[in-house]
Amino acid sequence: MEKKQLLYEGKAKRVYATDDPGLLVVEYKDDATAFNGLKHDRIAGKGILNNKISAFFFALLAEYGCESHFVKLLSEREMLVKKLEMIPAEVVVRNLVAGSLAKRFGLKEGKPLARPVVELYYKNDALGDPMINEYHLYALGMATPAQVEAFTGEALRINQVLSGFLRERGLLLVDLKLEFGVHNGKVLLGDEISPDTCRFWDAKTGEKLDKDRFRQDLGGVEEAYREIYRRLTGETYDI
Ligand code: ADP
Ligand code: UDP
Repeated sequence: MEKKQLLYEGKAKRVYATDDPGLLVVEYKDDATAFNGLKHDRIAGKGILNNKISAFFFALLAEYGCESHFVKLLSEREMLVKKLEMIPAEVVVRNLVAGSLAKRFGLKEGKPLARPVVELYYKNDALGDPMINEYHLYALGMATPAQVEAFTGEALRINQVLSGFLRERGLLLVDLKLEFGVHNGKVLLGDEISPDTCRFWDAKTGEKLDKDRFRQDLGGVEEAYREIYRRLTGETYDI
């Protein structure tokens, strides 16, 4: 497999073609952005940790029968993935109140939800990722009802698998954002699963171990990401 031209550079990753039209290389950068790109910084080692953490989660999910785009790790910052026709939706699943849900309902962060909440956002930076529902996706030809049913069921199952796994490691999965795409007619999980795209709280202390440390200027961002890697793998990672 040969890495070819850069196809896309996003806020956190670069996507490259390969000599196989069905495969891509995803490279994780150290850039951190928040508030739709208004806040920007570089966090040394973040890309390496997110690559390794995402690979760990994708491999774990595969053991539970949740298929993703992940093929294999290529290097510290790169993974090989199946090329997906991305569905332009961010699929958020929430277990506890935090972030925009706390704001929208005027609720305190940390309130447990009686059942998981699934939300959809239209992935469009220029518009600030507005909230949508499945009818928008159907009406605008962005996904079929069968695809929405597939990714909603899969998102809830992923949330259940990861919540249980993390609970055993002393972590609460507060919420997470997933992206799905189509490969050979099948809906597959894509993108990443990392402290950039999930909220992880220490179950005992409630300490935030995710991108909220960056969003809220709490400091210790890299240390928090490293702690997540340690809880998952039992290994420390010194960059
Ligand atoms: P953003 O576009 O939000 O700034 P990133 O920097 O994470 O995000 O860029 C990665 C891009 O690659 C995203 O647009 C994501 O939807 C897309 N992507 C993720 N996985 C795949 C895949 N398997 N095939 C095609 N595109 C993918
Ligand atoms: N999220 C993400 N990308 C986005 C917006 C949100 O990965 O563009 C994740 C975020 O890290 C959190 C979950 O989705 O784990 C829910 O985020 P929320 O709606 O609370 O938005 P926020 O207030 O964090 O922007």
